Amino acid sequence: MITLIERASLFTERVAIKSDGENHTYYQLLEQSEHVSANVLQDKKDLNQARIAFLVPASFSYAAVQWGIWRAGGIAVPLCEKHPLPSIQYVLEDTQATTVIYTEAFTELLSPLFKSTNIRFIKYADISLKKCELPTITLDRSALILYTSGTTGLPKGVVTTHANIEAQITALTTSWEWNKDDHVLNVLPLHHVHGIINMLSCALWSGACCEFLPKFSPKAIFDIFSKDEVNVFMAVPTIYFKLITYFNERTTTEKKEISKHLSKFRLMVSGSAALPVSVLEEWKEISEHTLLERYGMTEMGMAISNPYNGTRRPGHIGQPLHGVSIRLVDENNQIVTVGEPGEIQIKGPNVFKEYWRKPEATAEAFTADGWFHSGDIAIFDVDSYQILGRNSVDIIKSGGYKISALEIEEVLRTHPKIKDCGVVGIPDLEWGEIIGASIVLKLDELSVEDLTSWIHEKLPAYKTPRKYIFQEELPRNVMGKVTKNDIKKLFT
Ligand code: ATP
Ligand code: MG
Repeated sequence: MITLIERASLFTERVAIKSDGENHTYYQLLEQSEHVSANVLQDKKDLNQARIAFLVPASFSYAAVQWGIWRAGGIAVPLCEKHPLPSIQYVLEDTQATTVIYTEAFTELLSPLFKSTNIRFIKYADISLKKCELPTITLDRSALILYTSGTTGLPKGVVTTHANIEAQITALTTSWEWNKDDHVLNVLPLHHVHGIINMLSCALWSGACCEFLPKFSPKAIFDIFSKDEVNVFMAVPTIYFKLITYFNERTTTEKKEISKHLSKFRLMVSGSAALPVSVLEEWKEISEHTLLERYGMTEMGMAISNPYNGTRRPGHIGQPLHGVSIRLVDENNQIVTVGEPGEIQIKGPNVFKEYWRKPEATAEAFTADGWFHSGDIAIFDVDSYQILGRNSVDIIKSGGYKISALEIEEVLRTHPKIKDCGVVGIPDLEWGEIIGASIVLKLDELSVEDLTSWIHEKLPAYKTPRKYIFQEELPRNVMGKVTKNDIKKLFT
């Protein structure tokens, strides 16, 4: 049986979800998900792995729909609220979804599909209060198809089983000491593991409360921190950056007030992209909290994390989580010596089953002995792992050297006039690649000459950018990740 849902009966009277100003108990979640199951099942006894997509805002309804699909034997396919119709259509066609559950607000967006497809559309408001006998779901069944963020190419559908999800949840709840008194504020979209697994599912597994922010703004986040008993928060680095910027614009009294409410947190996490050391340090000054940086992927949930108890090293991602095996290998799949860079490979019950309808991509993603290729390069330094970047876009191969774009970005960010930056390799006949940097400035001007002489004092010549461009903002996807291929194009 699906343990996450079974566990809810341990906490029936507790608040599971707070959304739109209302508290919803675990009992209500169980009840409502059962109604969803009965409505999607109609006369069937088991959805038998049919793909049921849903476009429901991050709220109590979202959790009820996701659980309802699982309990009826379906594979849940969460759609992104921010996606335009063609991206939604891509997911519906790719997954061959039979049903879409949606809320009123998306009627207009979806209406062109109502007549043109064979998909059954169920409006959430029309879900009746019926119940029926539910199938028994074994943990080896597929549970979820999530699409990767599309940072390096077209998003791939990642299939995880209930057992995979359970392993992903237990790795985190054990390592980060989740408990029933926790109260997390969720500000992330719920079509990626960061929102679905790390926040929603870990909270519900633990009997804790997951609160949803109705509309993103730094002010709204700090307001909730000051009103509610939130003690856990997780976000991507760009969100911390926005919170810091907002904080810096407040008066001294307002700043004191904000900081006062941050001291009650037991856990604040950053992930999905490398956390700049400057952001970690500034956030520490504001909150007295060292952000816990962790590393993971759609394909495996979380894999490596800084310790909950113990020293969190800035710029490092820590050690493997409970139950996850990690190794670093070279191009010939040989384990590298300690201190040498290598590709992170992962094995464990958390690792996904397959890329949806992509048997070749699935086969290529694993070594002969079953390790998953992450495509990320890291080193093990003294006591913890450090990410050097993605092999495909962040490891620049220039004149025989392998250079980490992330390392150069860290240095550039220490320049007082630089707000943000993205470093890429640009194809070059002589060097293979040369280094290009896209720079986002704070208010002041900065000439390429000044920047060039400054960086030469900080880095050896082979690690210094040869070309610069200045941008108002870096190109990012919905997860706030810099899309480096878009930066590369600007240089060619
Ligand atoms: P796609 O696979 O479609 O190109 P994506 O890899 O960005 O997109 P996700 O599965 O959402 O899709 O992201 C996983 C990736 O995010 C990892 O492979 C890694 O490159 C990056 N990542 C996650 N956490 C960290 C971290 N703490 N530091 C650096 N990179 C991270
Ligand atoms: Mg990826």
